[in-house]
Amino acid sequence: MRSRVVLALVAAMLMVMPAVAEDISEVVLYELVTVSERVVSAIHDNGSNMHCVATEAGLVFFDASMSTRVARRFRSDMEERFDAPTRALVMTHAHVDHLLGMGAFSDVPVYAAAAGRPRWDQVLEMEWNDAAVARFAAVFPTLPDEIEDAELRLPTDWFEDILELGTDDAPLTIHRTGGHTVDSSSAVVGVDNVVIAGDLVQARRRPYFGEPDTDFDAWIGALEAWETTAPKAVCGGHGPVIDAAELGEIRRWFQEAAAAMTVLKAQGATPETIVAEDELPAGYWPEDGPVPRWWGFCVTRLFLAS
Ligand SMILES: [Zn+2]
Repeated sequence: MRSRVVLALVAAMLMVMPAVAEDISEVVLYELVTVSERVVSAIHDNGSNMHCVATEAGLVFFDASMSTRVARRFRSDMEERFDAPTRALVMTHAHVDHLLGMGAFSDVPVYAAAAGRPRWDQVLEMEWNDAAVARFAAVFPTLPDEIEDAELRLPTDWFEDILELGTDDAPLTIHRTGGHTVDSSSAVVGVDNVVIAGDLVQARRRPYFGEPDTDFDAWIGALEAWETTAPKAVCGGHGPVIDAAELGEIRRWFQEAAAAMTVLKAQGATPETIVAEDELPAGYWPEDGPVPRWWGFCVTRLFLAS
C-alpha cells in the first residue's frame, strides 16, 4: 500500500516537475540592454528599471526595482558579466516601485539624497497590512507577490546635491535636482556620455507628476541640462532606453503642458474639464496607450501648482 502511494507521488512529481522547470526557465525577468561599454540596463515592468555602471572600484547599481528576485538576478548577471564585485546601490528617489527590491543589496552601501529622508522614514514606518497592500496593488499589480520578500532599510549614506562615485578619468556624477520628487537624483556616466535619469524620464508612457514636492520647473531644467550635452543614451526609471532626440520630445511636452495649464487655468478650466476634454498638449507617449488611474490626480496637482 505504502509503495503504491510513493509510486503515485513519484508519478505526480514527474508530471509536475518538467512543467515547473519549464515555467522557471521561461520566466522573463527583464530585457538586458547594453547601453554603452560601462552601462547595462534591466528594462522591465516590475516596478522600476534598474541600471548598472561598471566603475574601476566595482559595480554601482541604480534603483532596486520592486522585486528582490529581479534585483538579485540582475546583480548576479552583472557580477558575472563584468567579473567584478558590487560596490554600491544608488537610489534615484524614495518611491516604493524603485526600492522594494533593495534587500538584494543588504551587504553594500546604499546612497540616497538627504532631501528624501522624510519619504524614506514614511516608507519604513508603513505597516504592510492587507489594506495597504491592496492600495498599492491598484497601481502596482505585482506588489502583493513581491512584498513578502522585501527587506527594507534606510540608506547608509546620504548626499546633499552632488555625489561623485567615479574617477577623474571616468567620472560618475550624481546630481539631486528635484523635479519628479524633491529627492529626484540622476547620474551622468562621463566618458560614455550616458544619463541615468530615474523618474525624470518615464519613456513612452504618461509620466507620474502627482507629488506635493513635484516641481515642473526643476524637472524641465534637468531635461534641458542633459540635452545640451547631447547624450548618447538616456536610461529612465520606466520605459525603454532612449536617445537625445526623444529626450527633446519629452522636454517639449513638459514645457508645453506647463504653458497650456497656465492658459487653461486663466480661462477658468478645472482639472476635471482638462482631463475630460483632453486639453493638455498631445503627449510623447503612444496615443492609444492606457490612461493610468492616477492621471487625473497628476493633472490636479499641476493645476494647483500652476
Ligand atoms: Zn517615482
